[in-house]
Formats: sequence, C-alpha cells, structure tokens
Amino acid sequence: MSEEKSKPVPRPGILDIAAYVPGKEHAPGVARVYKLSSNETPLGASPKAIEAFREAVGNLERYPDGQAIELRESIAAVHGLNPANIMCGNGSDELLGLLCHVYLGTGDEAIITEHGFLVYKIQIMGAGATPVVVKEKDETVDVDAILAAVTPKTKMVFIANPGNPTGTYVPVCEIRRLHASLPKNVVLVLDAAYAEYVRRNDYEAGIEIVSSNPNVVMTRTFSKVYGLAALRVGWMYAPADIIDAVNRVRGPFNMNSAAISAGAAAIRDQAFVQEAVAFNQMWIEKMTVALEAVGLKVTPSVTNFVLIHFPDVDGKRAPEADAFLTSRGYILRAVKGYGFANALRMSIGPDEANRGVIEALSEFVGRKS
Ligand SMILES: *Cc1c(COP(=O)(O)O)cnc(C)c1O
Repeated sequence: MSEEKSKPVPRPGILDIAAYVPGKEHAPGVARVYKLSSNETPLGASPKAIEAFREAVGNLERYPDGQAIELRESIAAVHGLNPANIMCGNGSDELLGLLCHVYLGTGDEAIITEHGFLVYKIQIMGAGATPVVVKEKDETVDVDAILAAVTPKTKMVFIANPGNPTGTYVPVCEIRRLHASLPKNVVLVLDAAYAEYVRRNDYEAGIEIVSSNPNVVMTRTFSKVYGLAALRVGWMYAPADIIDAVNRVRGPFNMNSAAISAGAAAIRDQAFVQEAVAFNQMWIEKMTVALEAVGLKVTPSVTNFVLIHFPDVDGKRAPEADAFLTSRGYILRAVKGYGFANALRMSIGPDEANRGVIEALSEFVGRKS
C-alpha cells in the first residue's frame, strides 16, 4: 500500500513553478496614471469591435460557437489561410498551454531562450517537462545556441519573434535554418504576438514555414495591436495533425461569444490596424532617439515597446528609475525576472505619456544621486 498523505499533493514539479507576475497597474497617490507596463495599445479597440461586443450582450444565455467559425473564417480571409488550420484560444496563452499539454510529458525537454516570455517556462513545467534555457546573443535569439541544446529528449522549441521584453527579431532565413536542423519530431513554436508592428523586409511571422512543414506552429494574439487584451483572444496556425491533437484536449467552449464577435470585427478592420501601426512606428523611433539623447541605452525595437537600460551607478539604476517614474504616474515594467535587473520595459503609450516619460527620465538621469 502506498504511503498515506494528510492532504492533496500536486504532481511533482508543480510547486517549483514561479507564478506569473503581471505588470503593475497602480501608482498610489498619483492623480493621472499611465500604464505602460503590459504592451497594450494606447488607441483602444476598433469601434467596429466595440459595437460587436455590445451586440453580443443580447445572447448571454446561449453557449458560444465551440468552433469559433466566424472568427476563424475572418482570420483566414485576412491572412489568406485555410480556416481548418486555425484554432482560437482564450488568449494565445491558452494555446501555448494546450500545446505543452499535448506534446510534453515527464522526462521531456523543451528549449526556451534566456530572455524568452515567462509563460513558456510555466506551461512546460506544468506539463511535467524540463525547460532548457539557452543564451541569447546581443539580446536576440541565437539559433546556434538552440541547436547546440537539442538532445534526444527535446520535444519543443519556443521562440518569441519578435522577442519580449527585448523587442528584437530573428530574420526569416535564420528561422528556416533553425527549422532545417531540428529533428522532425520537435515542435517549433513561433510566437508572433507583435508581428503586426514589424516593418522589416527580412521578417516573417511564420505563415510560410507552417504551411510547408508538419512540425511548426505560429501563435498570434488580439491583445496587442488589436486592443482586445481584456477579452482574451488568441489564435494559432498549425498543420492539420497538430490542430487535431490539440482539439481533443481543448475546452469545448474555450472562446466566449463576445470574444468571437469582437475579434472577427477587429480583424476585418485592417484600416484601424494600419493607423495603430503608423502611430507606433512614429513613436518607437522618436522614443529611441530621445532616450539615447538623454544618455540611456535602448535596445533597438521592432515592436510597440522599448527596453531601456540604466547606468550602473548608485541611485541611477532601474529600481530607482522605476520608483521615480511611478511617483510621476508612469508605470513601466520591471524585467528582472527576464534577466534584466538594470532595465525597464516601456510600452508606447499616448502622446502625452511618451513625452512625459522622456521628460521624467531626462530629469532622473540629470538628477544628483
Ligand atoms: C503579450 C504576449 C502574448 C499574448 O498573450 P495573450 O494570451 O494572447 O494575451 C504572447 N506572447 C508574447 C511574447 C507576448 O508578449
């Protein structure tokens, strides 16, 4: 007989997981607060998405469409894909978790990178597998380091492209080189949460690579440029066998009706997306130039956020900068958990917030320590 326990005990490894800590939201005692800590858009959602959300209120007693057909067909139409290869999720976080649940188990390894998104590690460990962390190079995913870490136990590789919190990206030729050298049984997950923002000719979110291979998945989100973070809408584009496997374990009604309708309306409003991207492009350049002029180092970003590095000088480090900015009502993201103890991540906000951060940081840097 097995030893009796006095209370329920989670599977081995579960209590080793460090729970995800979201970006701060509050600045106590400050009248006007700008939350620049979670890479949300300052432009809100498309008015058409908001209208669709309102309409969903009329049918609250009915179960949602478990296949999310309206949303999948809208995504497929905009991106030129087969809806059968699209699965939607309660945020892309849900899909990342389901993929781990399906492809990982005890004794398996999954490769993540030094500054990669913390959700991967949580989901890998949640599935009972071992996260293998590889170094990045110049704050960018290093394909050779990933390949060097592959073992017979490797079942998945996770890359955020562009990366969060770095804002850097891996060109498509490098992604192809990585894929070509991975064993055929390894699932390569390309998390393209910020793809809409990227303006680089050598970048691809992953659609072509997924289309022509059985072991690559691309995940996308409506939480960033589409401004629907509150509704939790994500999707993945994957080969038929992967969709089939994940479909067997996903909750039958994992998407709510409001999310399905608002998401479908949002993706059909590409004019709104273009405006948001143009606004961001203008500010990401301005912000980088202005912060460098103040004497701070900024990692070159293709996204809607910048990683700002502080000097290694008493009183001028990231924690002090964080406190200073918070006292002015600007909430940035501390990124120690991502391996950057002396940096803060700032999402591009509305004009007045971006100007305010530049002003506050020039004062902070010039301040006597
Ligand atoms: C914001 C973000 C996501 C999106 O997650 P959702 O669950 O869709 O809100 C996914 N990956 C990365 C790297 C992100 O920064």
